[in-house]
Amino acid sequence: MAPLDALSSFAGVGPPVAQGDKADLILHSGKLWDGRAIEGGEAVAVAGGRILVAGSNHEAERHRSEHTRSVDVDGRRIMPGLIDSHIHMVRGGLRWKVDPRWHDLSSLSEGLEAIARAGEVRAPDEWIAVLGGWSPYQFTEQRAPTRDELDEAAPRHPVFVQRNYVEAFLNTRALETLGWMGGGAPDWVEQDPDLSRPTGRVVGVPALQVLGQQLIMPGTEERVEGTRAMLRELNRVGLTGAVDAGGFRMTPEAYRPIADLYQSGEDGFRTRLLVGASQPGDEDGELERWMGLTSPGSGDELLRYLGAGEVILFPAHDVEGLDQRDISGEKGRLTEISRKLVEAGWPLHIHAILDRSVGTILDAWEEVGRPGELADLRFTITHADQVGAENLQRIREMGVGLTIQNGMAFRGGDSVATWGEERVRRSPALRTMLDLGIPVGAGTDGTVVSSYNPWACVWWMVSGESRDGSPARVEEQRLTRDEALRLYTRGSAWFSFEEDTRGNLRAGSDADLIVLSDDPLTVPEHEIRFIESVLTVVGGRIAHVSGLPVVADL
Ligand SMILES: [Zn+2]
Repeated sequence: MAPLDALSSFAGVGPPVAQGDKADLILHSGKLWDGRAIEGGEAVAVAGGRILVAGSNHEAERHRSEHTRSVDVDGRRIMPGLIDSHIHMVRGGLRWKVDPRWHDLSSLSEGLEAIARAGEVRAPDEWIAVLGGWSPYQFTEQRAPTRDELDEAAPRHPVFVQRNYVEAFLNTRALETLGWMGGGAPDWVEQDPDLSRPTGRVVGVPALQVLGQQLIMPGTEERVEGTRAMLRELNRVGLTGAVDAGGFRMTPEAYRPIADLYQSGEDGFRTRLLVGASQPGDEDGELERWMGLTSPGSGDELLRYLGAGEVILFPAHDVEGLDQRDISGEKGRLTEISRKLVEAGWPLHIHAILDRSVGTILDAWEEVGRPGELADLRFTITHADQVGAENLQRIREMGVGLTIQNGMAFRGGDSVATWGEERVRRSPALRTMLDLGIPVGAGTDGTVVSSYNPWACVWWMVSGESRDGSPARVEEQRLTRDEALRLYTRGSAWFSFEEDTRGNLRAGSDADLIVLSDDPLTVPEHEIRFIESVLTVVGGRIAHVSGLPVVADL
């Protein structure tokens, strides 16, 4: 039969499933995608959290019993759930309930309304912050907010609106609160020479750090509830799992809310955790404490530790790659920390945007471990936006993986000044990576650097278009829709050692499925980024449903 033949062309075998098993859930009358469109594939039958069969309606029907729930998906596309292989979701969840979000808004006026609404419920003098994930060019207005507009939206509250790790826009109250209004304001406060007052714009990471310190961490319950609400939103956009990349200030304590949430029965999302240094200074000590607290693979099928990353050494972090930082002086310490991880059997994902940074990390890794040892642990470079042909060749030879994200769609314009337009247009070299056979996973790097929405990334991989008005990626480095979706499913699953059982529709694989509002294979290209999941299933259980009748009790 054609559909299963097509499926079997992908390596790996799940646990055997006995013929005649009865399904808990059947999705039928759809169109299957499993690495490519499956001819004649219409339905998926699920039992015990795993896929029984993906094939024709008839094949799935054979597993029906009186207890089977079934969903007529009405011709929609059914595919494995998307997996973000690099996102800062644990951090994002902590503040999900309290901060207005500008991700995916189409106008600045909507963004200002969201700030005004926050002002109505927030105690006076409490900060209101929009923490990245947007670009001025996504708005019909094609620009960032002005100081006057932010004053009008929330006159009584200090407000800042952060864009990536590049700049932020403040209102008057915020400038006053920080003492940045008059003379003696720090250099990062932009001045309007005509009005001889601050414009409200501040530039650079130190300014953003000062702003970040103004925010009060929400209470325990808000953090848990925020994390839960975020996971449901991730389900709505079609994600069923992710590799979390930790981040600045992500101490062991910051993981308590997500651990509590899973402890209380959360079962709609598979989270794989990378843990690392939370601030500059005592990186070795922090990593050692983590290695005492946990080990790779500990946890369960839903929440599990994966390894170390994405920052293990702050001086070796090239941030957004805008200032041509040279990290080669850190090679010795990188070697030392990487060796410690290899000896303990810890996978490592490390951040690098610039080609030169990638080179330094590879130099360090060449001195670590026996041949093949790094590949066995699936050592990974994350972002690799600017990586060039020579380092890609080395990555291939060392068996290192790459996780790529659509960060360039938000910062390509900022990068032109130091990279040049031609380099920006070739970054990242997605096609070259695939041609070399390097393991590649997709993701967003949300929620500050970009939106968490995977479809924005799929659209970017396929179209080459940006979100910030920067030049489009050259045609030869764009991907087909099938390739982009493969990176977001089986591609990402590789990074948590789960490519045999996740990101595919094989019998025995985890029943993590999505049914889509529009078909990503045929929808007009510019509409790819508006796709949503109308039904998200994780481990055979319905995690999200909108607009589809489900027969029998939910
Ligand atoms: Zn990073």
